[in-house]
Amino acid sequence: MSVLKSLVEGIRGGSIEVVDLTSPLTSDTPILQLPEPFGNTIPFRLEEISRYDDRGPGWYWNDIHTGEHTGTHFDAPVHWVTGKDGEDVSQVAPARLLAPAVVLDFSAQAAADPDFLLQIDHVTAWEKEHGPLPEGGWLLYRTGWDARADDQARFLNANETGPHTPGISAECARWLAERSPVCGIGVETVGTDAGAAHSFDPAFPCHSFLLGAGKYGLTQLRNLDRLPVTGAVVVAPPLPIIGGSGSPVRVLALVER
Ligand code: MN
Repeated sequence: MSVLKSLVEGIRGGSIEVVDLTSPLTSDTPILQLPEPFGNTIPFRLEEISRYDDRGPGWYWNDIHTGEHTGTHFDAPVHWVTGKDGEDVSQVAPARLLAPAVVLDFSAQAAADPDFLLQIDHVTAWEKEHGPLPEGGWLLYRTGWDARADDQARFLNANETGPHTPGISAECARWLAERSPVCGIGVETVGTDAGAAHSFDPAFPCHSFLLGAGKYGLTQLRNLDRLPVTGAVVVAPPLPIIGGSGSPVRVLALVER
């Protein structure tokens, strides 16, 4: 049987499960909040054009108001100044948007310490147990933060010292960008960087190093607990916005049962 035929039969028959890793998009979907004097993105919003009424008796449709970086979204290299000569979302090769994924679960550590940071040693210890990170694939970083995704305040977890959400150390971000074979990282938090990453050296190291290396980011993922540690395939295609720095994205994982 052809590979595609067996894929379709596997999905229909249930031996391949399709797991949705996407947060639903509503006007309550948490969004990043930068302090003054920085600009901010808008919440997602539907604006009704007609709903089976005199504006359109037989049809319902909306305009959408959204940022590129709203909800579950894709960060393209051009999003960061270090990647300003790199790809925008429309330029990412389609074949890179279907890729293997591995899950590194540090939800227990993040539950104990919301400022928990993934270090190089954590990743190399994981590799000793599970094998090398996938070539051209995603490192999905599970922190359990998706449990907070329905509440903006708990999700951003900010106090007078700024947001406190788990992330990746500057050294590890650099290592993942320059020394590892992954195409990017996927996280459950509002952005790929830790809440406190504004004060790291460099600031926002995941953005700085990974996007600067032509790699990608996926954010606000959920259901990572339903994926195997290795072996899933992730489909994460951003909209082909010409010049776009990011895009809301529906992220699906194929998992063999
Ligand atoms: Mn982003």
